Amino acid sequence: MKFSPAFVWASDGVFHVKHFDVLVIGGGHAGSEAAHASARLGATTALVTMTRDSIGVMSCNPAIGGLGKGHLVREIDALDGVMGRVSDLAGIQFRLLNRKKGPAVQGPRTQADRKIYQQSMLAETENRENLSIVIGEVVDFLMSGDTVIGVQLADGSEIKAKRVILTTGTFLRGVIHIGDVSYSGGRMGDKASVKLAERIDSFELPLGRLKTGTPPRLDGRTIKWDLLESQAGDDEPALFSFLSNKVSARQISCGMTYTNEKTHDIIRENLKKSAMYGGHIDGVGPRYCPSIEDKIVRFGEKDSHLVFLEPEGLDDHTVYPNGISTSLPESVQEDYVKSIYGLEDVKILQPGYAIEYDYIDPRVLDDTLALPTVGGLYLAGQINGTTGYEEAAAQGMVAGFNAALSALGRDPVHFSRSESYIGVMIDDLTTRGVTEPYRMFTSRAEFRLSLRADNADQRLTPLAKELGAASSERINVFDAKMERLAKGYETIQAKTFTPKEAQTAGIQVSQDGSRRTAYQILAFPSVNFENLLPLMPKLAELDVETQKQLEREATYASFLSRQQRDIDRIAKDEAHKIPTMFDYQPIDGLSNELKAKLLLVRPSTLAQAGRIDGMTPAALALLLAKIRQFEKKSA
Ligand code: FAD
Repeated sequence: MKFSPAFVWASDGVFHVKHFDVLVIGGGHAGSEAAHASARLGATTALVTMTRDSIGVMSCNPAIGGLGKGHLVREIDALDGVMGRVSDLAGIQFRLLNRKKGPAVQGPRTQADRKIYQQSMLAETENRENLSIVIGEVVDFLMSGDTVIGVQLADGSEIKAKRVILTTGTFLRGVIHIGDVSYSGGRMGDKASVKLAERIDSFELPLGRLKTGTPPRLDGRTIKWDLLESQAGDDEPALFSFLSNKVSARQISCGMTYTNEKTHDIIRENLKKSAMYGGHIDGVGPRYCPSIEDKIVRFGEKDSHLVFLEPEGLDDHTVYPNGISTSLPESVQEDYVKSIYGLEDVKILQPGYAIEYDYIDPRVLDDTLALPTVGGLYLAGQINGTTGYEEAAAQGMVAGFNAALSALGRDPVHFSRSESYIGVMIDDLTTRGVTEPYRMFTSRAEFRLSLRADNADQRLTPLAKELGAASSERINVFDAKMERLAKGYETIQAKTFTPKEAQTAGIQVSQDGSRRTAYQILAFPSVNFENLLPLMPKLAELDVETQKQLEREATYASFLSRQQRDIDRIAKDEAHKIPTMFDYQPIDGLSNELKAKLLLVRPSTLAQAGRIDGMTPAALALLLAKIRQFEKKSA
């Protein structure tokens, strides 16, 4: 535990502590990233979490990234967050998903050593300047009227803070289900946060129930690896952090096996005993991460499902069987797991289970993740209806920056849909809300051609610099890269070539008589960087990373100019802010339903209002006219 020097311990062992700028409740993925973001801005920050070992714990799959999620991690890293660097330290198998498709939809993913991940995150957190870790359970908020001014811990001690960020994940009234056995818990081995949930009830926020599940953990020493197919990582690992240049941990392969008719029969026969299908759970689960019971029911025509056997660490025998999460009773889990090829003698170390928990309808938040109805309070992570470490961490960063900016009396930072996946997620959550646990996909981003994982630093590191959130190492690496890229652009656009010249150098382009730069020639789908070298040998002087980046940019260049026009149009709308005090009630011509939605969402921009379900162009025009009248009156 690391305390700032101004911490005061009382003789009764209860500490009565100084004032922090920002206090974060919960040391999971949202909480860790929030605390780091706040501390990086220079705000004195406390991270309060139940146990020291809970910092950076992966509750479920020991993997980071994937499609859409990998983009979020790159963006977190571009803003100098911690998740990318820690994932690179802990990665024991790196794979770039969708490698054969275009760079816009490729997703970096790593399987992580659970222990290295958690220890590296803890070390980062203990060593961060301005950040103090406090071990304890928060049971209550300290209030001044409608504003949160600190927290009370279970031992009675109080900590004051100008801003508080709540990131308690699945812990709010968490209930664990295995078959017909149910008990209170935040996740396996951790107690739920019941007292805090009761306190939150008094804020009268719209709450809902969601659920998620995890598979049984297996003892790798009892798996017949020799019989199974294996999958190695990529020869050229795609790392997460723009600061990393090599893998750190030993790399391993995963095993692959399949469920079969017998597995499916066992599950089908016992469906009624599943917590999910036996009527014990009301919450809605993640559609894109179904349990094995779900798969058998929803995809009845399939007689087999792929199961990845992922080792959880280099010095750990635990194996995570990806694809068979369940809430069936332990004895049924034992039967169906042992029916799978290669797992006939397997020992189950921990049963699979489902967890049901409270979430808060994120439409009550503004786009800084602050709660307008409860002063000083921000929410981030699974508590806002999302699922996944990456989604949680990205929200943590948004809340961490904004809580710190607000505590320091600075302007908030907004993330737009046209600049980042982070902006897409914040807008989706605060405008549309969730009907099931929300996870990121590339398809959610309308500007995905420019929101690529490869250019996250180009899009966002300048913002981190401007905010004062980037380390000098980050700034140096970024500036050097941008310098190399600028030189690359200059070189590749320095000369133009006729189609004939291109053809003579062995490159096929349209024979339309137009002169083209080497960059324009690179935009042709059949042309790669190497093809350009006979035409322009000077390009060989550019470093490999710059060459690759120019190639990716050229691939999308023609689409990007069209997309830029759309972005400019939206940016114009987005620029029109809706005053916080604006009252929707007196507007004649807006339906009551729409008024209720506007009041709930409280959009901060006209563009955000435009995306509210049911908003028509006519209603939007009326709203804009009324906002302009309001602005004129209050000018
Ligand atoms: P968490 O990581 O849960 O962190 C919450 C933190 O808050 C913990 O450190 C806890 O100690 C602390 N805390 C709670 N209450 C208090 C309090 N009162 N005082 C102080 N500290 C407190 N995601 C997927 O993407 N795919 C999956 O398949 C998947 N399956 C899952 C299965 C299970 C069983 C669980 C539990 C989670 C699963 N997840 C899955 C979700 C993933 O674990 C979360 O999305 C992610 O961890 C959320 O991060 P978070 O920071 O919001 O919360």
